[in-house]
Amino acid sequence: MNNYIVFSDFDGTITKEDTICKIMSHFAPEHWKKVWDDIFNKRITISEGVAKLFSMIPSSKKDEIIKFVLENVPIREGFKELLLFLKSKNIPFIVISGGLDFYIYPLLEPYKDLITKIYCNQADFSGEYIKIKFIYECDPLCDDNDCGMCKISVIRKYTGTKIYIGDSITDINAAKVTDIIFARGLFAKELKKNSIPFYEYDNFYQVKAKMEEILK
Ligand code: MG
Ligand code: ZN
Repeated sequence: MNNYIVFSDFDGTITKEDTICKIMSHFAPEHWKKVWDDIFNKRITISEGVAKLFSMIPSSKKDEIIKFVLENVPIREGFKELLLFLKSKNIPFIVISGGLDFYIYPLLEPYKDLITKIYCNQADFSGEYIKIKFIYECDPLCDDNDCGMCKISVIRKYTGTKIYIGDSITDINAAKVTDIIFARGLFAKELKKNSIPFYEYDNFYQVKAKMEEILK
């Protein structure tokens, strides 16, 4: 039997909307949108951009942000069902996110017994404004060198048949080192453009159904 392992992005994948975008539109001054555009147009690196975005928000807002996120960021349908299915098959589910621990952990709290590991950046509230500690940096094989949270470097550490679930531009690199891809949004568009095969999803019930087929 094949050793399967599932890696999943967080923002816009497990959550239905991008949590960083949601936090910024509520807590950051108006010009955050320019930084956001700069990231997507690759004028600045993702790590630079995310650090810049959070540096606009005072550390004192921490608890308010957590409360806001828990009340306003919905989890994609079928998430728990997929996790229960994977658990029943003994397949690890690993979250890899360029987001921050202080909102990811509270959002995933109800599912924590079903998640094998969470890789993400750390928020630092010791200064006046929120700072980010990038603790999973690029390995020497990464072409980009400044991913901030280097998904490809994390995935490379694991062996087995790798399944990846994602939704956006930061997932494209990760897809290069995985065997089976589930994609939506910008990620799906980019894969199509490059003729890389993938399964499209809109909810986790669809992902579970396809995995049931694959694992047969
Ligand atoms: Mg995402
Ligand atoms: Zn990297």
